[in-house]
Amino acid sequence: MMTKPAQVMVITPHPDDAEFGVAGTIVHWVREGKKVVYVVCTNGNKGTSDINMNPDELAKIREQEQLAAAKLLGVSDVTFLRYPDQALEDTPEFRKEIVRWIRTYRPETVVTADPYRRYIWHRDHRVTGQVVLDAIFPYARDNRAYPDLLEQGLQPHKVKEVLLWASEDPNYRSDITDTFDIKMAALRCHKSQVGDEISPDLKQWIIQRAKENAKGEDFELAEAFHRVEILW
Ligand SMILES: [Zn+2]
Repeated sequence: MMTKPAQVMVITPHPDDAEFGVAGTIVHWVREGKKVVYVVCTNGNKGTSDINMNPDELAKIREQEQLAAAKLLGVSDVTFLRYPDQALEDTPEFRKEIVRWIRTYRPETVVTADPYRRYIWHRDHRVTGQVVLDAIFPYARDNRAYPDLLEQGLQPHKVKEVLLWASEDPNYRSDITDTFDIKMAALRCHKSQVGDEISPDLKQWIIQRAKENAKGEDFELAEAFHRVEILW
C-alpha cells in the first residue's frame, strides 16, 4: 500500500457532516496550498424520511453528492469506508481501518466530530469521534501496533493537531466570513438531505450558528472546534 501524504484529513461519520462542520475552513486551507482529504465512514443509507427510498440507491446518491461537495471545496481525495448508516461500533476492525488511513495520508491535522457531546447525539458521530481519537493515539503512532500494516509499508505516524466540530467546549474559532457562500454551495450539493433548495429556516439556522461561533472575535462568521494539540 502506498502512502499519499496530505496536510489535513477530515474523517466524517456521514456524507454531509464535514460540510456542516468544517467546509468554510477547508476552503482556507486549500487556498493556502494545503492538501485536504476526506474519509467518509458510513454510506448514509438511512438518511431519509422517505419510506419508499431504496437504501442502496440512497447510498449511491449520497456518494455522488459527497464527491460533488468535496470537488467544490477543493478536497483532493475522498475515501468511502461504506459502513452502514446507524451501525458504527467501536470495534478493533473499524479502529484499524482508521489507523490504516491515518498512516496512508500522514496528516498534520485531523478533523472529526466531537464524541463528547452530552445526551442526545448521533451514535455514529459519537463512535467516529472516539475511534478517531483512539486511532491517533496510541495506535497510529505506535510501531508495535499492527505489525501487518508495518509490513505493508504503513509506518507509524504522529498527528500534530485534532479539531473536533460540534463541540460543547470550543476553544478554537476559524473565520469563515469570506468562505461562507462556498460552504453553503457545498451544502447545496447534498440535495437528498437539504432538498433542491436550502430552506430559509435551515439557512437561518446555519447563519445563526456561524455568528454564535464568532462571538467575541473580530470577524462575523466562524466554524468552532475543540482543538487538541498533541505534543508527545
Ligand atoms: Zn451525521
